Amino acid sequence: MTQDTQDRNPQDDQVVVIGGGLAGCECAWQLAERGIAVRLVEMRPHRRSPAHQTDGLGELVCSNSFRSDAPENAVGLLHEELRRAGSLMLRLADVHRVPAGDALAVDREKFSADVEAHIAGHPRIRVVRTEVERLPLDERLPVVVATGPLTSDALAADIARMTGQERLSFFDAIAPILDAPSIDEEKVFRASRWGKGDGDDYVNCPMDKVQYLAFIDALLQAETSVTEEFEKDAHYFPGCLPIEVIAASGPKSLRFGPMKPTGLDDPRTGRWAYAIVQLRAENRDKTAYNMVGFQTKMKQGEQRRVLRMIPGLEQVEFLRYGSVHRNTFLDSPKLLDEAMCLKSSPQLRFAGQITGVEGYLESTASGLWVGARLAADLRGTELPPPSPTTSLGALLRHVREGSPSGFQPSNVHFGLFPALDPAVVGRKPNKADRKAGMRDRARLDLPDWLRRIGISVEPASEVPPVEACG
Ligand SMILES: Cc1cc2nc3c(=O)[nH]c(=O)nc-3n(C[C@H](O)[C@H](O)[C@H](O)COP(=O)(O)OP(=O)(O)OC[C@H]3O[C@@H](n4cnc5c(N)ncnc54)[C@H](O)[C@@H]3O)c2cc1C
Repeated sequence: MTQDTQDRNPQDDQVVVIGGGLAGCECAWQLAERGIAVRLVEMRPHRRSPAHQTDGLGELVCSNSFRSDAPENAVGLLHEELRRAGSLMLRLADVHRVPAGDALAVDREKFSADVEAHIAGHPRIRVVRTEVERLPLDERLPVVVATGPLTSDALAADIARMTGQERLSFFDAIAPILDAPSIDEEKVFRASRWGKGDGDDYVNCPMDKVQYLAFIDALLQAETSVTEEFEKDAHYFPGCLPIEVIAASGPKSLRFGPMKPTGLDDPRTGRWAYAIVQLRAENRDKTAYNMVGFQTKMKQGEQRRVLRMIPGLEQVEFLRYGSVHRNTFLDSPKLLDEAMCLKSSPQLRFAGQITGVEGYLESTASGLWVGARLAADLRGTELPPPSPTTSLGALLRHVREGSPSGFQPSNVHFGLFPALDPAVVGRKPNKADRKAGMRDRARLDLPDWLRRIGISVEPASEVPPVEACG
């Protein structure tokens, strides 16, 4: 079944964007704002992916966070760059922000509803609800494929046929969401690490050594929902490792990872606990909490048994259980050019996580680039990617070039940036100076590109700070 949100004449479409996720919506918006008529095709509600829960455009499938908003790191810097470049997703994330320390977390339902309102309400975007099973190459329009890590099977098979490559896949894991009133407030305390944010953004469940070791024991014994066969194929993204996989690498590994207690003073003891489980608000009203870094592949009954061993969660109700899922991405350095066009068929472009960027933010960034570049190409103007010294440019370069050890998806981090000039920062700058140097260099190098995409540039120091919501 096909359903249009608008009655604009289909003959007027100038570009087809497939996929109404973060990349597809950002890409469609960038094109439409530059005067180009877009057909945006989304398969939900007719077909759902294994992870999407709603029919809304721009759905965040797992965590509700776009991660750190601090420009001292590459993620926060990418936030800043996308805001300056006119990203719709960042603008709406700021509008629907919920308290989360220095992270940009959002009320996912309101965020998605607003994305839908902006996209479906744009006079140059026509939203069509249907599954694309084959690449629509016969229409002679540029096509952007932004179907994400859970591209439907039929389309993935067609892409594999087209690219001549076996589809590559690995598996991400998602964390449970808990019902707030079922958390025992007597046993937990509210604080942000090192007192950042509003101070009480996170709920912290402290554990002593005996509790921690018993928890690790139970975790390692728990039954998982995946087969040995699945496990052999699963190459988890390092930032999304299931807790069982982390625990299996050593009894203290979780304590140095998602259960790290540092910077969290327990007000009842005045000290750091042996280990901490952190919960982050899912919405402004704090009716639900996400278990931070607690992606798990345990069976649901085992999640109830094992996670209820955590102090404060003895009676907890699960609003969503953790699970593991497929991720599909292309060998982009071999297949795509800098505009993200398929080298063998340049009418076809890719955007978002399917290109091998990893994360909501990075997928948004990719959508912004593909939209801006395609608009320039249609106008016959030149638009090179931003300098790799910027966060956006470094991410795009990773997709274009990969790394010497082969191509793996990546989120953005300073390791993707070119090294700093020793004449500027000395031969061995400390970590803080290195980060500051990369940030300052990026801020100097971005404006030239912003002007090329038609943004009037104000000095970075005058970029208005985004107010955190109280
Ligand atoms: C289980 C899981 C958990 C994740 N957790 C996180 C997280 O916590 N934080 C984070 O930053 N990132 C996370 N990611 C990665 C995150 O999903 C992506 O980074 C981001 O959503 C990708 O954006 P996208 O626009 O490329 O794809 P998506 O947001 O997935 O959007 C793709 C859209 O295309 C549609 N579609 C698919 N096939 C077709 C078709 N044939 N025809 C028409 N429409 C189609 C889909 O329905 C979907 O709406 C997770 C991914 C998975 C799979």
